Amino acid sequence: MSEQLNIAIAGVAGRMGRELVRAALTRGHRINGGTERGQAPDLGRPIGVLIGDPSVTSLVSDRVQTAAEGGRVWIDFTAPQATLEALQSLRETSVTAAVIGTTGFNPEQEAQIKAQAEHFAIVKAGNFSLGVNLLEHLVQLAAARLGKDWDIEISETHHHDKVDAPSGTALMLGEAAAKGQGSALSEVRADPYNGPDAKRIDGKIGFSVQRMGGVIGDHSVAFGTPQEVVTLSHRALDRAVFAHGAIRAAEWAKDQPPGLYDLSAVLGL
Ligand code: NAD
Repeated sequence: MSEQLNIAIAGVAGRMGRELVRAALTRGHRINGGTERGQAPDLGRPIGVLIGDPSVTSLVSDRVQTAAEGGRVWIDFTAPQATLEALQSLRETSVTAAVIGTTGFNPEQEAQIKAQAEHFAIVKAGNFSLGVNLLEHLVQLAAARLGKDWDIEISETHHHDKVDAPSGTALMLGEAAAKGQGSALSEVRADPYNGPDAKRIDGKIGFSVQRMGGVIGDHSVAFGTPQEVVTLSHRALDRAVFAHGAIRAAEWAKDQPPGLYDLSAVLGL
C-alpha cells in the first residue's frame, strides 16, 4: 500500500465519483473534497453520505478551489468542459497531479489538456482497467505481426446512458491497431457502414457500437482474412475496476514531474 494521499474527486456524486471514493478509502487514502455541478441535489452534503460511510465528512462543493484545498491529487471523471475548467482553477491550489478519466474530448480540448500538463502530472486514459491496457498492447502487437492485409473491426457495447460514441476505449484500441499497422487512426478510420453504398474499403478500421441496458463496457477487436478471424476482447464486470486503476494512477502520479502520461507509464509496460 502506498503513502496516504489527500485526494479530491470531481463529479463525486456520479457513478464513477462514488466508486472512486470507495476505492480511495479501500486503499487507505483520505478524501479531501469533491465537486458537483451547480444545482446538483447532493451539493452541501457530506461526501460520506453518498456511499453510506459517515467517516468522510468533507462536503460536496460546486467550487474546485474548495474541494481541492489541501489536496495533492485531483481525480476527474465528469465531462470534457467541466474537466478543462477544473484544471484551470487547480493552478491556484496545492494539487500537483491529476487523473483524468473523462472521455469525449475533441481535438482542440485534447490540446488544452496537453497545455495544462506543463503545470501538472496528468494521467489520462480512456479506460483505467488493467485488462484493457493489456489488450491495447496485444492489439498493437497483433496488428503489427499480422500485417496490413488483415481487416480490422472494433466493436463496443455500453449502457444506454453513455453519451459519446464510439467509446474512448474503442478509439484507443483503434489507435493501437493503426499504430501496429504503421499509420494513425485519423488516416484509416472507416466511415460508419450505412446505406446502399457502404462496402468495406481495404486498409480501413471500422467501428460498430451498441447501447443497451446496464452494460459497463465490452470491447472486441477482430482481425480477419478470407480464411480466418482472430478476436481479442475484454469485458468489464464491475465499475470498480476503473476506480481502482484511477487510484493506482493517483498513487503513481503524485511523484511525477509535470507531463501527460497514460496507464502504460503507470504500469511500466
Ligand atoms: P455520471 O453522469 O454518473 O457522473 C458524472 C458526474 O459529473 C455527475 O454527477 C455530474 O453531475 C458531474 N458533473 C458534471 N459537470 C460537472 C461540473 N462542472 N463540476 C462538477 N461535477 C460535474 O457519469 P459516469 O458514468 O460517472 O462517467 C463520467 C465520465 O467518465 C464520462 O466521460 C465517462 O465516459 C467517463 N468514464 C471513463 C472511464 C475510464 O476508465 N476512463 C470509466 C467510466 C466512465
